[in-house]
Amino acid sequence: MSTVRKTKPRSAKRAAPDIREQAAMLDALADRALELSAAAGVEPTGNWRSGRDEDGVAWWVLDRPGKSVNTIDRSVLEELNTLIDEAEAHPPKGVVIRSGKPSGFAAGADIAQFVGASTTEISAMLADGHGVLDRLAALRMPVIAVVHGHCLGAGLELALACRFRLAVSNASLGFPEVMLGLHPGLGGTFRSLKVADPIEAMTMMLTGRNMPARRARKIGLVDAVVEERHVVNAVRAATGGELHRPDRSLPARAFALKPARSIAARRMRAEARKKADPAHYPAPFQLIDLWEQHGGSEERLRRAELESFASLVETPTAQNLVRVFFLREAMRAQKDGASGIKRVHVIGAGAMGGDIAAWAAREGFRVSLSDIDNRPIGEALRKAAKMLEGTLKDPLKVRDALDRLVPDPAGAGMAGADLVIEAAPERLELKQSILRKAEARMKPGAILATNTSALPLPDLAQGLADPSRLVGIHFFNPVSRMQLIEVVKHDALAPDMLRRATNFVVELNRLPAPVRPSAGFLVNRALTPYIAEAILLAGEGVPKERIDARAEAFGMPMGPIELADQVGLDIAVEVAQTLAERVGMPLPEMPGWLHQMVREGRLGRKTGGGLYDYDAEGKPKKVHLDALPDKSADDPDLVDRLILPMLNTVVACLREGVIESEDLADGAMVFGTGFAPFRGGPMRYARDRGIDDILSKLRELEMTHGARFRPDPGWDRL
Ligand code: NAD
Repeated sequence: MSTVRKTKPRSAKRAAPDIREQAAMLDALADRALELSAAAGVEPTGNWRSGRDEDGVAWWVLDRPGKSVNTIDRSVLEELNTLIDEAEAHPPKGVVIRSGKPSGFAAGADIAQFVGASTTEISAMLADGHGVLDRLAALRMPVIAVVHGHCLGAGLELALACRFRLAVSNASLGFPEVMLGLHPGLGGTFRSLKVADPIEAMTMMLTGRNMPARRARKIGLVDAVVEERHVVNAVRAATGGELHRPDRSLPARAFALKPARSIAARRMRAEARKKADPAHYPAPFQLIDLWEQHGGSEERLRRAELESFASLVETPTAQNLVRVFFLREAMRAQKDGASGIKRVHVIGAGAMGGDIAAWAAREGFRVSLSDIDNRPIGEALRKAAKMLEGTLKDPLKVRDALDRLVPDPAGAGMAGADLVIEAAPERLELKQSILRKAEARMKPGAILATNTSALPLPDLAQGLADPSRLVGIHFFNPVSRMQLIEVVKHDALAPDMLRRATNFVVELNRLPAPVRPSAGFLVNRALTPYIAEAILLAGEGVPKERIDARAEAFGMPMGPIELADQVGLDIAVEVAQTLAERVGMPLPEMPGWLHQMVREGRLGRKTGGGLYDYDAEGKPKKVHLDALPDKSADDPDLVDRLILPMLNTVVACLREGVIESEDLADGAMVFGTGFAPFRGGPMRYARDRGIDDILSKLRELEMTHGARFRPDPGWDRL
């Protein structure tokens, strides 16, 4: 690569230019560099653009063609190696590495390279990657990473191999590898532990949480935080030897000795165990072991990191979590343009309507909220403020979101809304009348949506002048935490309405799963036999704490007994009845004692007591497992009795076309119920365990426990 001496990167005096401007300038530099290098017979690189400014500083700009965000893969590192060759042959005064993408520095490693990769392949790839970053770290001139936006995973590891890190104030840094069942593998462990407070660095790697620029500066991960307009001056300071990083040797020294690390590691393990079972999620525990064993030697930690990472890639956990990552991407990719929705009106300010309105306002929509009663509207606004404060954390953003949420008892906002969502009580005639009245007030082209959990869309559409604009947008509770939204289709629905509703869901930062309007759609239908069987098991005398613990050990986020209380026992009974009647679901008869509880108003968490009692904070009072009676009464088929009917139902939904594909079914169940992500979803679990094995187990359970375990005919097609 030849050098160019043409323009300065940018005048440092101009106010607030953004990364796009700098990228345009770098484009000019790079074009010239490419011309010269082509003349000199040097191949132009694909992912990087490079050039030198008049101060003699080389700018290497990562700007992967055809991608909106940078990821790091083999080709990026190979090309970086060539740039390093050039810097060694013709040393610049300094090197600046930054990104040409407005979205950020880099989103991490290209995850596609981990799919199906073997330990050997990954080891070889990582060893090469380490080699390149080690060469970068060894360059004699100052190398400065300037990071803005997202600087994650392998992107952060690249920045850590530079001598200095300047973070633009909007930067957000993190190691999300743990969410994929991995830990940093490109030098991130030893380099972050070297520059930052080791406990903070470990916490960051163990939680996968992002860190804003200023906090990253505080813990030593970056050397300075600058505004975009001061980047050039900051680079000059760094290349001129004027940037000094604070001495972090004290915390690092404190943990140079193994006994100190062992004490901290014990605490970390205890914390990690609260969040994840080592049997299912080995990565955090391997990372703690790495640090405890090798944290005293950079060289040993470097080798151990590589081996440990390569061993994790091949685990079913990592492969399934990578799959879940791609399922999420595929669900988001259903968006094929803008929804055109700006104003939303929500009818019914109860548990769901209030939360839907608040979430839509949070995501930038202008929202009006009506109800027949003023009290729920006031309550919804109070709840909204709490949710927004908890999730946005920035008072200005909270204020702006609350400004977008307008109480509208008379429903005046309906006329101007692009989307009206009905979240009134689950009664057919009531909803029909609300929808009819709303339709009469809505502007042409606006979408009419219902949040019904179970009512048939064709029935709801009866009486509408234009049924083609009615779509189901089925949110889950709590709206701020549940990522899935079922988008309910029906025969009369106009394709454009479906498309816009789907796009709207992605604009809400949620994941759409299109479903047919069969009772319970996918998620509630699949959860019902799980809850029903648990209630039956409890009736058989299995302690409810054990039922929940076994389901959680399988990987469900919440045991079925606690879930029943959360849903509400009245609702659980009602949903089970509806499903039995409407889709002929072979559910177990709900025991008399449960009906009695419902009659007595002991309905679950919402009434302070249900199958469990609840403390003041709404937590169930569970007996510790060790204090439970002897385990011999435990049914060895307990987990299968809970999980297999759920799988059987998903298969029935696939056969009936309620959901289109196994991937979507897995995505919907993982994001709608929290179904063991490390198992990759129910269908992946079925395939991993073996369809034949599941079929024979279902038949066996059918013989012992009855027809509710009869395998669905859909299994034959798998
Ligand atoms: P809710 O009882 O908490 O709230 C319903 C609200 O609608 C109340 O505030 C009520 O005053 C209001 N309302 C009643 N009649 C009205 C009318 N004519 N016009 C305007 N407002 C009216 O109920 P919810 O739990 O929020 O459920 C609402 C819908 O969402 C139902 O269809 C339900 O099946 C569905 N849903 C509920 C959940 C859940 O977990 N609660 C989850 C998904 C979907």
